[in-house]
Amino acid sequence: MLINSTLSGKKELLLPIHNNRVNLFVCGPTVYDNSHIGHARTYIVFDVVARYLKHKGYSVFYLQNVTDVDDKIIQRATETDASPRLLARKFEQKYLEDMQALGVTNVSYYARASEHIPEIINQIERLIEKGYAYETETGVYFDESRFHDFGKLSHQSVEDLEKHRIEPDPTKRNPGDFSLWKKRQDGPEVTWDSPWGKGRPGWHIEDTAITENYFGAQYDIHGGAMDLIFPHHEAEIAQMEATSGKKPLVRFWMHTGFLNVNGEKMSKSLGNFTTIRDMLKKFDADSFRFFVLSSHYRSPIDFSEDALDQSKKSLERIRQAAKLIEAEIEGSPSTADVASSEKEANDPSILEARARFLDSMENDFNTPYALRAVFEMVRDINRRLNEKSISRNALIDARNLLDEFGQILGIGFSPATGSRAENSEDKTGKLIELLIDMRQKLREKKDWALADEIRNRLTEQGIVLEDAKTGGGKYSIR
Ligand code: AMP
Repeated sequence: MLINSTLSGKKELLLPIHNNRVNLFVCGPTVYDNSHIGHARTYIVFDVVARYLKHKGYSVFYLQNVTDVDDKIIQRATETDASPRLLARKFEQKYLEDMQALGVTNVSYYARASEHIPEIINQIERLIEKGYAYETETGVYFDESRFHDFGKLSHQSVEDLEKHRIEPDPTKRNPGDFSLWKKRQDGPEVTWDSPWGKGRPGWHIEDTAITENYFGAQYDIHGGAMDLIFPHHEAEIAQMEATSGKKPLVRFWMHTGFLNVNGEKMSKSLGNFTTIRDMLKKFDADSFRFFVLSSHYRSPIDFSEDALDQSKKSLERIRQAAKLIEAEIEGSPSTADVASSEKEANDPSILEARARFLDSMENDFNTPYALRAVFEMVRDINRRLNEKSISRNALIDARNLLDEFGQILGIGFSPATGSRAENSEDKTGKLIELLIDMRQKLREKKDWALADEIRNRLTEQGIVLEDAKTGGGKYSIR
């Protein structure tokens, strides 16, 4: 299949580094507030990327970091008189709940920055040893002038880069040098001992330390929205390629366009955001997914409630057709056209719909074209149902195909699956929360036996509970 590479600016053939395995990393959230629907757009896109690659038969390891050490977290904690660690855990939990509610369920592992400090320190040590990083009174910095490929991802020349002034600091060699380690005395929750004294990591180094730990020096796909191309992803390339001497760090850099409001990027700082939670009070998760996937992932999308309403109606039309198909299958005797089953299983128009859907996905995950194929199939079936010119077997094929499309896109099209995210997954998430809560109460009462039994029984169901040091608990479904 073809995937657009931000680095080359071209669509290129996906050839995984390790045969059938695709290692995918996407920059996760900075957990200091509720996530908004701009974040949701990016994570829905990469959920579909993972779903489609799995559908193709790849074994996908989808890794996401959680930035739980950051100036914004410390600032918010100070403002609200909270513990930075508890604040980060609270918003991480809310983020996971939001993702469950949206049907974003394909991340294999969430890696917290705070739990990878030794890997971060180790990577910085190697960069210093190789002469790419240096220590000053304020911290450790990457020497941008030593890495000649700097700017290759964002396609900027040395002169362009001169215009950026990241973190002015008189101790730095070059204004563009970015921070690897910040010397700080902010307290035990957000500082760690290091060869350079107490402090905490810079933002960029957490990602390369985490990806190196799980994937090694090179991997297949790195994703995020396009605001991260510079400086964040450019810095990741510099750090990892300088450390390992291997190029490229990543085979495919994939960047999503923004979700905008009146042409402006939705963001916390502009105050023009709608949280995922607020959006889900008015719309169901599937309608929002449909809205997101109606545009190509690299194009900007303009959010409005009207546009979301339109998506809801479009999805309804497909579901209506799926209901008719189901009713017709239920209502007709299964023996009626056994003789023609062989022929009907290859209904040309349904086969063509499948081919067009998959061709669109093969072409850089072109979901709007894939959705068009779904619509055209549905229109054709409606017409044939009216004309009574479609066989039961063809209807069964159509139903199966709608299920297959729904699996890939993470949308419940057919009445059997219904509104997937709203019904089944949302309830599953809530039930897990409830069990976690009960278990926490048992632990507080020191009823360890029953608490452990709940954990073990959940593990049997593939839901792994990891006790956070502060209580609560984090779960992952494997
Ligand atoms: P943050 O928590 O701000 O680091 O963002 C998490 C992810 O969401 C990053 O990949 C961002 O680039 C992405 N993101 C933030 N705002 C938007 C937006 N308005 N549209 C699409 N993606 C976004």
